[in-house]
Amino acid sequence: MQTFEGNCLCGKNAFRIAVSEEKFSTCHCGLCRQQTGGPLMMIDGFEQPDFEHPAHLTTYHSSEWGERQFCPTCGTILFCRERHKDEGAFCAVNVFALNEQARFSMKHQIFIDDKPDSYALAGDIPSLTGAEVFASFGKKENNDA
Ligand SMILES: [Zn+2]
Ligand SMILES: [Zn+2]
Repeated sequence: MQTFEGNCLCGKNAFRIAVSEEKFSTCHCGLCRQQTGGPLMMIDGFEQPDFEHPAHLTTYHSSEWGERQFCPTCGTILFCRERHKDEGAFCAVNVFALNEQARFSMKHQIFIDDKPDSYALAGDIPSLTGAEVFASFGKKENNDA
């Protein structure tokens, strides 16, 4: 595990996360694109974040099992996570909120079946459909992440 520091655009959220591999996923699902204006690039599978000050976050319940957390001051999306916070709960963080973001490389793109034809990532990047993503989580097939 390697520890990285990150923050939102305005700096009200300063946090630390422990990451097992320096890789991120790019999500093309409709929720990510509508919320952010593009595909969302996030590191997944780390322990819960540790905040320097109390977290300054708004939580939006975006699906039956998932929620998105963003800074209510600057709007930076920081986390996509499972709504239950039990040990082992899925939590992903915006790779570009980290200070050492340049150390991370793209692992794969997900929800490729939701990607519109209007853009495409360059290169030969491994792709997973939404169904494949939920299967890898051991979850029932759902709409979006
Ligand atoms: Zn902020
Ligand atoms: Zn998504």
